[in-house]
Amino acid sequence: MPPVDEEVGRVARAAAAVPDLGSLAELARSCRACPELAAARKSVVVGDLPAGRPRFVLVGEAPGATEDETGRPFVGRSGALLDQLLAEAGLDRAEAAVLNVVKCRPPGNRTPRAAEVARCSGWLNRQLELLDAPVVVALGLSAAKWFLGPRTVLAAARGRAHDVGGRAVWATYHPSAAIRFGPNGAPRAGLLADLVAVAGSLA
Ligand code: URA
Repeated sequence: MPPVDEEVGRVARAAAAVPDLGSLAELARSCRACPELAAARKSVVVGDLPAGRPRFVLVGEAPGATEDETGRPFVGRSGALLDQLLAEAGLDRAEAAVLNVVKCRPPGNRTPRAAEVARCSGWLNRQLELLDAPVVVALGLSAAKWFLGPRTVLAAARGRAHDVGGRAVWATYHPSAAIRFGPNGAPRAGLLADLVAVAGSLA
């Protein structure tokens, strides 16, 4: 059973009522649905948006320390590697919306709890609806599970697009796994191969 509390519905209703992404960002910045995260955060990292409609959407897990400091997603070590691999794959980050499942940094970079994911889901749902992007890349297991369900096994799900409500969702390794396993590790090669496949699907 997914954790359901009052905040899940409250956030979902608030997010569903916003008319545009600017209003969503403003409202999300005052969110206190997860008391532990709200108390510890410096920023609510709502996401980076391209000027027009994104060609694709990148969805990570949650902000880390650098993202919490700056208020922007994927600007730390993981972000640097992500930018490099996107470029190697022929993708342009400027054409992407960059979002996270959870918008506040979990203390010590722990994995977000199921209740935190559930409470934050209203924001991501509405962002995806307003962005209307046909292609999503879920980076890492938290994001893959958000789109494909709690039983998702990354190694089995990656390498192809999944139809999720008419959207093509690619699940792949998180750049932090690529850093952890090193430049010759399987996650880096897998992440790059998946980004190349996404680029091919957009061409
Ligand atoms: N890791 C994530 O999942 N998201 C970020 O924004 C940064 C690191």
